[in-house]
Amino acid sequence: MSRAVVAFGANLGDREATIDAAVRALADAAGVELIAVSPLYETPALKTTGVDHDAPGYLNGVLVVETVLDPHALLDVLQRIEHEQGRVRAERWGDRTLDLDLIDFDGLELADERLELPHPRAWQRAFVLQPWLDVDPDAVLAGRGPVSALRAETSDEVVRR
Ligand code: ATP
Ligand code: MG
Ligand code: MG
Repeated sequence: MSRAVVAFGANLGDREATIDAAVRALADAAGVELIAVSPLYETPALKTTGVDHDAPGYLNGVLVVETVLDPHALLDVLQRIEHEQGRVRAERWGDRTLDLDLIDFDGLELADERLELPHPRAWQRAFVLQPWLDVDPDAVLAGRGPVSALRAETSDEVVRR
């Protein structure tokens, strides 16, 4: 069994319904057991040009799962659920019904053309670090250190629902 942290974000459509459906789909996936769901946070959209207060805001949070899948098979499941929830891939960091990112997988460090672990930008994102801390105050991000210390260095806006 491995333990993985999955971050979710939604900024189009009925965000809460999408997230509920995604959580259920992940809990129902073969070889995956849902361990924890964080509180939800309202966060402004982050575009390649920076924070965009004109774009619809996000609901963000994290899930903790235990799984017998390997990291790439878990990514397959996450991408299937994104697709089922109507995700269309357009511009980088564009608006989307659902984003599911694999943040940590047993502290593994790897990088190939499909998957980088830990998620390379998680360390600087309060919208990932804060909900992760809520469900695991002692969390550590591989290669970066305690999530609590990383969270203290971030200044992006997250408002608990
Ligand atoms: P960001 O990664 O900055 O949060 P994003 O989530 O909007 O941006 P996506 O369009 O969802 O980016 O994903 C682009 C690609 O990133 C995917 O096709 C996937 O193969 C790859 N990828 C690499 N590492 C990861 C990871 N740890 N979790 C999810 N996708 C990853
Ligand atoms: Mg993402
Ligand atoms: Mg993604």
